[in-house]
Amino acid sequence: MAGVRVVGLRKVFDKKTVAVDGVSFEVKDGEFVILLGPSGCGKTTTLRCIAGLETPDEGEIYIGDRLVNDLPPKDRDIAMVFQSYALYPHMTVYDNLAFPLKMRKYPKDEIDKRVKEVARLLRIEDLLDRKPRQLSGGQQQRVALGRALVRNPQVWLMDEPLSNLDAKLRVYMRAELKKLQKDLGITTIYVTHDQAEAMAMGDRIAVMDKGKILQYDEPHVVYEKPANIFVAGFLGSPPMNFVDATIVERDSQIILDAGVFELPLPRDLARLVKEGATSDKVVIGFRPEYMTLSIERTPDSVFQADVYVVEPMGSSYVVDLKAGEYLLKAITPATTRLPPIGGKVWVGFLMDKIHIFDAKTERTIF
Ligand code: ATP
Repeated sequence: MAGVRVVGLRKVFDKKTVAVDGVSFEVKDGEFVILLGPSGCGKTTTLRCIAGLETPDEGEIYIGDRLVNDLPPKDRDIAMVFQSYALYPHMTVYDNLAFPLKMRKYPKDEIDKRVKEVARLLRIEDLLDRKPRQLSGGQQQRVALGRALVRNPQVWLMDEPLSNLDAKLRVYMRAELKKLQKDLGITTIYVTHDQAEAMAMGDRIAVMDKGKILQYDEPHVVYEKPANIFVAGFLGSPPMNFVDATIVERDSQIILDAGVFELPLPRDLARLVKEGATSDKVVIGFRPEYMTLSIERTPDSVFQADVYVVEPMGSSYVVDLKAGEYLLKAITPATTRLPPIGGKVWVGFLMDKIHIFDAKTERTIF
């Protein structure tokens, strides 16, 4: 097994599209790392450079201690799984799994042993005689994974491998894949644009935008302590609410004036904000799940809003609120007493769970 190190990776297509713009990160031996970001942010290109399918314009890629920039894909000791399964349609599941080993001239009995081992692990033993078209999407996906697994590579590279599955199978497979990865301890780099998948599976997440890594940390850190507005807004569903505010000083008290509400800051936080902000403009962020709603005013109440829509989600409600120009979302237990649509509700949020960003740089102040 081996870790992966990417240093200063840059890839430009057609002399003008900067797909990857100075990306550096390290994946420890046995770690499961996610490259997460919106479409076009450079995740796939980064992965393809590591695989050897693209040639970087700048930067180094190490697998273990080996600089692999000049090695062809087949000599990098990696296995790849892509969004499309690319199984050989005329071959049985058995032959599909055996193919990478036959190519490498493994002895016949060794091939048989490994194919059966992997089939057992992925629970596809009963499907070995079928052709790909006789399999469901989820079964095909497992065969594709099996083909990557069968030869115990140093590194797995996966590009949205679950994206073709229905929601239920996807959630099932992501747990299965995570378990498998931990059991086998294969260093894994996994590309997705699905933040829930990233949170559920990754040991660490690299959040990317416009060819750069904006934050690289454990899921709970990226979620609770986002580095900037982009990361804060990308993780979480429904996403974090953002409200523009101005820093004002009144009777030696620092207040964030957001129009729809005013937030007096405790002394420590006031100092942080004054020192950290590049102007008097900031953005306040608060997550839907850290908001409280109540018909009567409570000590937590910060402002009043109109109930706009209520979306029942089973054990909880997602409540859309209209406050001034803002449409905000709150998550509240389904037992919460709410006024009818159009009625007024008091909104509160936990002060230690709010985020304050600099409006100009979009960086986190608190
Ligand atoms: P997606 O989730 O949509 O696959 P991504 O984050 O993986 O997106 P990339 O596929 O790495 O993004 O693409 C990054 C940028 O590089 C995009 O602007 C894309 O259009 C461009 N790009 C990717 N491959 C090529 C190519 N072969 N030729 C020209 N431009 C390319």
